[in-house]
This record gives sequence, structure tokens and C-alpha cells, in this order.
Amino acid sequence: MVQTRWIRNHTDQTVKHRSNKIYRLDSLGNRWSSAAIERKISRAKAEKIEQLTDEFGRVVCQACKRNDCVPVDMAHIISVDKCKNDPRFNLELAWDLDNLIPLGRPCHAKADNNNIRWTNIKN
Ligand SMILES: [Zn+2]
Repeated sequence: MVQTRWIRNHTDQTVKHRSNKIYRLDSLGNRWSSAAIERKISRAKAEKIEQLTDEFGRVVCQACKRNDCVPVDMAHIISVDKCKNDPRFNLELAWDLDNLIPLGRPCHAKADNNNIRWTNIKN
């Protein structure tokens, strides 16, 4: 009998390879290393910037819409931490373009402190 090389974590959010490397599971059960997740997120951010530039000609802070709210970051509406660790969210939300929003650094900092309600930004 072949012993499994994968040890499923009790939270069902991660699996550990026998090499002790931790992988996270997406909703389809695919395994993702931290490095692979970071690469997916980087690509999603680049793609989102390209999409917004194509559509609007530029990328502007969606919280205040001011041209001087810079630099503009691609912020997560549902944080990467929640995507990775909160069982209510699928891992793949971390690289879902709809979960990314351009925010200037000043507004991004406020959003991270929950001073901006996301619903206000999206409407
Ligand atoms: Zn702003």
C-alpha cells in the first residue's frame, strides 16, 4: 500500500507535504504554495491595471478619485490574509480581478484601518 505524501490539516485549508512544506487548497482542491499564490496575485494586479488602463486610459484612486492620491496601489477588497486563512472565503479570491480595487496610498491606509466602507467605494 502506498502511503500518501500529503497530510491534510484539520482546518481543511492547508495540506502539508511530507517535506513539511505547507500548501493551501483552493475550492477545487488544487494545492498552492505561498510562492505560487504570490505569483498569481502579481499577475492579477498587472492584468487589472492593464484592464483599467484600456478602459479608462488611466488608473485612479477609486475612494476619492483625486489625481493627486498617489501612488495608486492595487488593493484587495477581501484581504489576502482572509482568502488564505478564513474558511468563509475561497483561496482563489486572492487573485480574482473583481477582488482588486485601485486605491491611492493615503486612501489605502485609511481603508486598512476600516475608515472607508467598501460599499461606498464600489457604488
Ligand atoms: Zn484616494
